[in-house]
Amino acid sequence: MEISGIDTDGREFKNTAEMWREQVGEDGDSHKKIDWYRNGVGYWQEVDASVDGVLGGYGSVNEADIKESEDFLKNLFSDLLFDTPTNRHLVALDCGSGIGRVTKNLLIRYFNEVDLLEPVSHFLEAARQSLTQEGVVGADEHKATNFYCVPLQEFTPDSGRYDVIWIQWCIGHLTDDDFVSFFENAKAGLKPGGFFILKENTARQGFVLDKEDHSITRSDLYYKELFRRCGLHLYKTKNQKEFPQELFPVKMYALTTEVPKRRHSTRSNSKLRANRPGLIK
Ligand code: SAH
Repeated sequence: MEISGIDTDGREFKNTAEMWREQVGEDGDSHKKIDWYRNGVGYWQEVDASVDGVLGGYGSVNEADIKESEDFLKNLFSDLLFDTPTNRHLVALDCGSGIGRVTKNLLIRYFNEVDLLEPVSHFLEAARQSLTQEGVVGADEHKATNFYCVPLQEFTPDSGRYDVIWIQWCIGHLTDDDFVSFFENAKAGLKPGGFFILKENTARQGFVLDKEDHSITRSDLYYKELFRRCGLHLYKTKNQKEFPQELFPVKMYALTTEVPKRRHSTRSNSKLRANRPGLIK
């Protein structure tokens, strides 16, 4: 599939191959690829360890972001973890966690343990401080456990540790090939029935290469093509509401490794059949 795009200077690329060749070189030209990742992390190293910092100056969207994420997560819990005992010990991984904004405002309330993965050390240290201060996390059963200072493309999770792997606003730093290998590796980190949540900016079409932070914003179609390559099942999507107009539309994707069995599947199937318009013969 040909996906064309632009960069933030308005330059056009006729397809992703042309853009990636320029950014990270041909196979084996690892210097360019090392630079791509170094520049991506380098950009964030200069950014303040604050909510405004990790949200590119839009700290004000934090509340709406968390609210929509929470609704999405709660629905997925009831859909996908419905046959899980209520006392199951739930564990999440927050990828590209920054200062731990998503963990602190959302994940820690639902999961007994959260691990954070973040390549920029001053962000990760800020996360560690705010999440391990006494009294912040509250009950002993809910805590931030591991703080991994590594980039996504170099991470291999402990097998079967996670119920949910959350990836928000960081996958744009990965090349297509690393995107696919990240998910392939990370699958092994999920418990049976576990799932991924990817929350990202979406380009209206094709892709937009950001020359400043060295990331790309992909369109919905582009993401779907990559999910197919990862062998992932797209279980549900939802659009973020109430964000300022000038921002990219943001989408949430829930991804599973298999097509999940649905609750009351027989009943809803037969209901569906009964409600289907009949053929007039
Ligand atoms: N997910 C957080 C932070 C978003 S800011 C939140 O929603 O608040 C983008 C984050 O991606 C930064 O913390 C940055 O350091 C991180 N990042 C940059 N390159 C990365 C990479 N290769 N792997 C993982 N994270 C990366």
